[in-house]
Amino acid sequence: MKAPEKVRTLAQMAVSFGRRWTSKPSLALQGNGAAPYPSTVLDLIIFHKLHICLPAENALKSYRHLRSSFVDWNEVRISTVREIQEALSAPAGSLDIAVFIKDLLEFVHRERQDLNLEFLVEQTSTDIRRFLKQVRGLDTSTIEMVLRQRKEYPVFPLNPALVTVLNRLGVLRNSETILQQEKALHELVDPRRALLLHHFLLDHSRRVCPPDVASVDCPSCRIRQICAFYARGARTRRSRHGQKNSPRTASRDRRAPAGADRRGRAAKPTPRGRIRKAVH
Ligand code: SF4
Repeated sequence: MKAPEKVRTLAQMAVSFGRRWTSKPSLALQGNGAAPYPSTVLDLIIFHKLHICLPAENALKSYRHLRSSFVDWNEVRISTVREIQEALSAPAGSLDIAVFIKDLLEFVHRERQDLNLEFLVEQTSTDIRRFLKQVRGLDTSTIEMVLRQRKEYPVFPLNPALVTVLNRLGVLRNSETILQQEKALHELVDPRRALLLHHFLLDHSRRVCPPDVASVDCPSCRIRQICAFYARGARTRRSRHGQKNSPRTASRDRRAPAGADRRGRAAKPTPRGRIRKAVH
């Protein structure tokens, strides 16, 4: 299957993921195509951070808990990290998230004397990037998400974990910049499905296809039928064991597929890469 077809298949799967994800009532979210998203820049950054760090449903739950536990973001700012952590109701990774939120709010307050980042919408993309890069712990894809959502910037936000998944799937290859990849993917994905696909891939990376190849869980993967990494592992197993469609998996198979080093580690996510030629 060629890369554009894989992207279309993934986008369709993202729609089912989105139905499950958005079926629960959300708080302070406004629809954007098929995905719920907060309206303000500050909310968007915090919402996206939760999605980088937690499974999708937990992220939405934590965001709702956070918003309902405090009167406003200023009350969050003057609260302790422990209080923020408790409001998140997310045991895994909640300390790091709470520290990020506290640091973010203190930073914005220090810079702006309030907690409003809407001024950024009037700035150029360069100025927005320059400002947001000062926020400690901010994922690069969050900046692109802000630009996409509030400046209609034509990108599909990627980070190293998403690049790794898309490389394994055989959608990207290592030869151009991440920005070129983001723009090419943007051209391929139906705008109504782009956010869902972004979150579907984030969730997929967290649950079954993390950057650490030793933790990859191909048997549980529902997209392995279109995965180049899995196909290479299957071919290797067939030639080694002479059996077709062995139930053994790529994660248990320590022989490296193409793109991995001699110890079987996957190629490191790289900021350089591009959509396979077949895209266009
Ligand atoms: S089959 Fe394995 S390597 Fe491919 S996307 Fe699924 S979990 Fe990742």
